[in-house]
Amino acid sequence: MAILEDNDELLSFMYACPFGLIELDASGVIGMINPHAMKHLLPLAGAQGVGNFFAAMEHHAPELRNFADGFSDASGTICDGHRIFVDLGQKNHDEHPKVLSCCLVKRAPDQLIATLSDVSAQVAQEQRLRQADMWFSALIDEVNDHALLTIDDQGIVLWANHSFVRQTGYTAEDVVGQPVNDILAKQRESDQSSFAIDDQLSLAARDGWHLFEGWEKRAGGDRYWCQRLLVARAEQDSEANRSFSMVLRDVPEPDEKTQDLIELLTRDYLTGATNRRQFHKLLKREHSNYLRQHQPLSLIILDLDNFKALNDVHGHPAGDAVLKQVARIGLECAPAKAVFARLGGEEFALLVPNCRLGATIELAESLRRKIADLRIELPSGSIQVTASLGCADMDETNQSTDDLIAIADRRLYEAKNAGRDRVDPVAA
Ligand code: GH3
Ligand code: MG
Ligand code: MG
Repeated sequence: MAILEDNDELLSFMYACPFGLIELDASGVIGMINPHAMKHLLPLAGAQGVGNFFAAMEHHAPELRNFADGFSDASGTICDGHRIFVDLGQKNHDEHPKVLSCCLVKRAPDQLIATLSDVSAQVAQEQRLRQADMWFSALIDEVNDHALLTIDDQGIVLWANHSFVRQTGYTAEDVVGQPVNDILAKQRESDQSSFAIDDQLSLAARDGWHLFEGWEKRAGGDRYWCQRLLVARAEQDSEANRSFSMVLRDVPEPDEKTQDLIELLTRDYLTGATNRRQFHKLLKREHSNYLRQHQPLSLIILDLDNFKALNDVHGHPAGDAVLKQVARIGLECAPAKAVFARLGGEEFALLVPNCRLGATIELAESLRRKIADLRIELPSGSIQVTASLGCADMDETNQSTDDLIAIADRRLYEAKNAGRDRVDPVAA
């Protein structure tokens, strides 16, 4: 009866194919079974043995026999992708439950073909997606006023809802067609600890979603604590043109303790600039962007001139007031995405991504002028201060951040040696 017996090619296919194939008669007696099917069937059959397919499946899927008995057509599909949840009594919590998918086809009144494949991983994935789906619905349902943006895989805003306009003060015309990075960077220009959108996009593309909390700024300038959820949209079928939904929620600030801790960990207590530890962390992140995407990256190191003498003449509190004012200027001059940090004492750094040496030297020159123009009013009179600055571009280095710092440092000391209150290299 077995059509397969005469056909060598079909036989070799049966043995090689990566899922279980079984040929059986109407009562379930197995004529042919390939190794994969045997692997699935043996543990299920137990004492029954694997002579009869329906008997072997009696314990885990008794319905299969009923499906076949109830199928009156001479040929056709009896069941397709029927899932069998296998319980072998071994509770191993690290593993997915075992699930087999079974197709049963009637080829002739007394000939059936069954296929068995292991779909445990797929079922576990579906369960995870269903859980995430429920989680997102609950989240969105609870949020009655949320700013929503649709952005493409390059981070360009495609659409903004009314709440976005209300929450941020930007109009849809301000943002549609613009890189979301620029909009958010504008909003958080002084918060250098934020999570880069590029990083969030790649995490959301990989994991389906990513949640981040931090300060954002509205168009008017006031800042608010924001929960930023980025979700890879599910409807697209091709990787090539993925789009993302971004939900921005204005949520209550984290309690004082959490906020204190964030400040303590990332900011210099006196000036509010990024602290040395956080600077090195961000430098590392920008360095990997440089290596990955060949984005320009440059650095300015700034050291106040004769600061010891200033302290000696006017006192330490006057020195502190100068440091605060210099940091205010540095933070104001820092372009979006730049990091202004206090490296220690009266030494500061400005890390400038997406900026070549020429433009960085100009930026350093404008910093120098603003510091020289500064007048700090004290009861004892007005004081002035100057700074020397050294600039370096990652492209001048052996691709290491140590080298970048060393070159900027060397130039800073060249500026000191040349008479202070100047930038090295000199602007073209
Ligand atoms: P140069 O132009 O060569 O840089 O000379 P300088 O006097 O600025 O350099 P030096 O390194 O000799 O002195 C730095 C001074 O900065 C010494 C220290 O008292 C002062 N300083 C370091 N941290 C602070 C601070 O937090 N507050 C105040 N007021 N002074 C500080
Ligand atoms: Mg100094
Ligand atoms: Mg110094």
